[in-house]
Amino acid sequence: MSHIIHRALRTVPLKAVSAQGITITDEHGKTYLDGSGGAAVSCLGHGHPEVLATLHAQIDKLAYAHTSFFTSEVSEALADNLVAHAPAGMDRVYFVSGGSEAIEAALKLARQYFVEIGQPERTLFVARRQSYHGNTLGALAVGGNEWRRRQFAPLLMDVGRVAPCYEYRDRRADESQDDYTKRLLAEIETTFQQLGPERIIGFVAETVVGATAGALEPTPGYFKGVRALCDRYGILLIADEVMCGMGRTGTLHAVEQEGIVPDLMTIAKGLGGGYQPIGAVLATSKVVDPISQGSGLFQHGHTYIGHPTAAAAALAVQQVIQRDGLLPQVLSRGAYLRAALNDRLGTHAQVGDIRGRGLFMGVELVRDRADKTPFDPALKLHSHIKAQAMRNGLLVYPMGGTIDGQTGDHVLIAPPFIATEDDLDQIVDRLANAIDTALLSIKE
Ligand code: PLP
Repeated sequence: MSHIIHRALRTVPLKAVSAQGITITDEHGKTYLDGSGGAAVSCLGHGHPEVLATLHAQIDKLAYAHTSFFTSEVSEALADNLVAHAPAGMDRVYFVSGGSEAIEAALKLARQYFVEIGQPERTLFVARRQSYHGNTLGALAVGGNEWRRRQFAPLLMDVGRVAPCYEYRDRRADESQDDYTKRLLAEIETTFQQLGPERIIGFVAETVVGATAGALEPTPGYFKGVRALCDRYGILLIADEVMCGMGRTGTLHAVEQEGIVPDLMTIAKGLGGGYQPIGAVLATSKVVDPISQGSGLFQHGHTYIGHPTAAAAALAVQQVIQRDGLLPQVLSRGAYLRAALNDRLGTHAQVGDIRGRGLFMGVELVRDRADKTPFDPALKLHSHIKAQAMRNGLLVYPMGGTIDGQTGDHVLIAPPFIATEDDLDQIVDRLANAIDTALLSIKE
């Protein structure tokens, strides 16, 4: 028996024992292609020699020093590197250990900003359905993932809720893409007005939605419109790029492709590439200056913020990405992956949509392509796909559809940036087989 509280408590998962490049090996010696980098984490793959060497050197020199006493050379260098590559004006960094912590810190920075500038009546966040921002209580509150929230709902703060930007499901047949975008923006504005814009702290959204909807891209102009609305009502825009950021979509930050600069942006996962747990909030001086000039104290903190070993891993990962020109490679390999998915699954009777950007792709499954009816969530198609993919030696990230039919089962594919075209062919091949086998098993 395992003493660990595993997520599915009655099941002890396989033990991973080693990993190299884009493969992971389990306790039985079986290897898996890491087609999702875990959960869009392992951007450089596993066992990268330079990252490991940097890590070892950092541990020898300074593994940890608490930030109430010290900063460290390496965390300062990482912050410099992140700011040098951040959207213009995002020149402050707050380090944490992961994505949920980054969201919590962003929510609190945003709230404290308004307290410091004399608008304490701002107490509300607005966020979208079909979103995931993490599992801690603040992050769960802004997240729109109903099954994750249900049991904890009485503990969560109230959040204004608007539609996601989900063209495949929500654009009407008689509506242009532009009109759809305008309809979404109008709903956001109406929500701001109904809640009272003077009560709203921030609008929180994933630039490209990850786990809850499978690489859901915004329509052109959507985020420009959101930015304009936030500016009109003095509301902060918080972009959650924990999953879609740090190069996954082909630019370091997905907001670059939207032509906007958020006030706060959360990053994690690919920041440290899985070599260490690390996340961060990138912030504009607009948000941070009133706090530093006011009380001078951000009322927040965790034991492991600015952890030197984690910072060293992240700096090494980012330097390899920059030196090896991996972002253009994400775009070219992403185009290859998209074409391979389209070739193999584009006309599949149960594949409703293939979408995404860079090496961040999603496949949505439907019972009926014509009317986009999802499978009954009780069938747990996504679990069957995951299990069969593992039997096929493939790790991908399938998630279930929602009971209200707002999304179908979908699979997220997010391989390491170093995946070759041959690796991508293998991933698509094993995935297509897993989908077909899983579909057969739910028919029986
Ligand atoms: N935000 C987004 C968009 C995520 O996808 C996730 C995790 O999947 C989180 C936040 C939470 O990150 P973590 O699991 O590191 O706490």
